[in-house]
Formats: sequence, C-alpha cells, structure tokens
Amino acid sequence: MSTPNRFAFFNGEIVPIEQARVSVMTNGLNYGTGCFEGIRAYWNAEEEQLLVFQLQAHMERLKRSCKILYMDIPYSVDELCQITLDLLRCEGFQEDTYIRPLVYKSDPAIAVQMNNLTDSFTLFALPFGQYIAGSAARVCVSSWRRIEDNVIPARAKPTGAYINTALAKTEALLNGYDEAIVLSADGQVSEASSANLFIVRNGTLITPPVTSDILEGITRQVVVELARTELSATVVERSIDRTELYLADEVFFCGTGVEVKPIIEIDRRPVGNGVIGPISARLVQHYSDIVRGRNARYRHWCTVV
Ligand code: PMP
Repeated sequence: MSTPNRFAFFNGEIVPIEQARVSVMTNGLNYGTGCFEGIRAYWNAEEEQLLVFQLQAHMERLKRSCKILYMDIPYSVDELCQITLDLLRCEGFQEDTYIRPLVYKSDPAIAVQMNNLTDSFTLFALPFGQYIAGSAARVCVSSWRRIEDNVIPARAKPTGAYINTALAKTEALLNGYDEAIVLSADGQVSEASSANLFIVRNGTLITPPVTSDILEGITRQVVVELARTELSATVVERSIDRTELYLADEVFFCGTGVEVKPIIEIDRRPVGNGVIGPISARLVQHYSDIVRGRNARYRHWCTVV
C-alpha cells in the first residue's frame, strides 16, 4: 500500500518508509506491548513554515509512559525532539501533519511480559486533516467503560489500551454518532475515546480530575491555561455525573487529534441550545491561532521545523 510519507526513523536512522518493517512475530504486534504519542504540526502559510505544537511535552509524556511500562529507549527528550525535526525536514511537508513516535517490544518472542525484552523506537509522520469532520460533533455515551488505572495504566499511552478506544469509537460510528463519551468503571464521566472533555455550567469550566482514569492530556492543560488567562474563566477539576452532560450549557472535547471540538448533541439531547456555545467558540479560535504560531504570547509552544 502506498503512503503519503516517504521516510521513517527506524533502528536508529532515517530510512525509506518501505524499509521500516517488522516481523509478524513482533511481541508488540502480538500483545500490544508498546506505547506511543500523537503530535501535530501545523503549516503556517504566511511564514511558509511548519510548526510542531507542544513537541517537548509530548516527548516528556512518552518517557513517562515508558517508565510506567518498564520500557526504556536510549534517547533523551531533546534527542527525541531532534529526531522529529530531522524526519520532518526530510519529508518537507507543506501542510498540516501528524507525527507518531512509537516504542514497542520488538523481539520475535512468545513472552507476555515487559522485562527482558528489547525496546525499539520508531517515528513517522504523515499529512493529516481533521480527526472529526465539521465544526461540531454529535456523540453518545458509550456502553464500553474506560480502562481502569489498575487494569491498564490510563495515564500512559499503551498501544494495547487503544482496543478500548477502538471499541467505543466503532460502536459510536455504527450507531450514527461522531464520537463516544466513555464513563469510568464507577460510572463517572472520564473522557472521549481519544480526547479529554470539558463541560460548561454557568460560565464555569469543569473537567474530570487526573484520578478519573483519563489520559493526562496536553491539550487539556492548554485549555485550562487559555480559559484562565484569555477568558478569565474559572476552571474546576472534579468528577462529572453522566446526567450533567445532558444539562450542561456547553460541552467540548480537546486533544491533539480532535483539537478543540464543540459537542452539540449527546444521546439525542441537544447540548444547551444545540448550537456551538460562546466559550467553546472562543477556545476554538484561540487554539487555532496558537497552534499556527499566530499568537506571540504562546509562540514558545510551537517548534519551527
Ligand atoms: N485521551 C486519550 C485516550 C487520548 O488518546 C488522547 C489523545 N492523545 C487524549 C485524551 C488527548 O490528549 P492530548 O491532548 O495530549 O493529545
């Protein structure tokens, strides 16, 4: 199958993508023993530059995932950032791009364990548009529950954990929705299948705490900062009941993939008046300016390729 990208970082060097191949016996393929990141780079047409958003923060989280999962790679965060920039310079994309660093157990071994196996690192990038089409989404509450931290570490990004995402997303799509909201095992709102979630009630932004089996999202942190600094809004981290979703004035998802995505319908009930709310709209605008490096105050979140 041909791909829009030409290279990958594989076994310590940048190689043509056709050479970045693994065996069917790869442990990570058989057991999901890996962890990864999802990073976006944005094309700034005026400057004719590609800007990677929050590169360092993503690589720091990759290292944290590795730590939780007994994995280790011989690269520092700075080196991982440099590998990313080198790869992007080889590709020369002049459009919005998605970057995928991946650490995986590469031995051809029937061994369901994390220790005494080899950790390999690969990274590739490809052009990427919207994750959910359109300016707003219609979603459902999933019948699937979010993985519990004591089942599969929820604050890491283990490859195998994304079966949970895939099941929730598939169910939502087959039932005619754009996305799913996933509850934690104890029935509280956790997050979307691959994004964090905020609700707005009476002008206050509310998001589940990091102890609600969420991924500690980088965009979530960005939204908290923008809400406080740019909107002078109060942000509260507390558990959210399912029925609060139905009564919220606004609900939106945030994540590298979905960016800031207003939700206008949940389980066939309109969110607020069923149109994009004012706080969500302002955050969408701020976010899209900032990721393209158009807001000097947050330019340090962008790395020029
Ligand atoms: N939750 C899950 C399960 C995710 O996969 C993602 C995407 N990485 C997020 C939340 C959002 O995290 P971030 O803002 O760091 O991309």
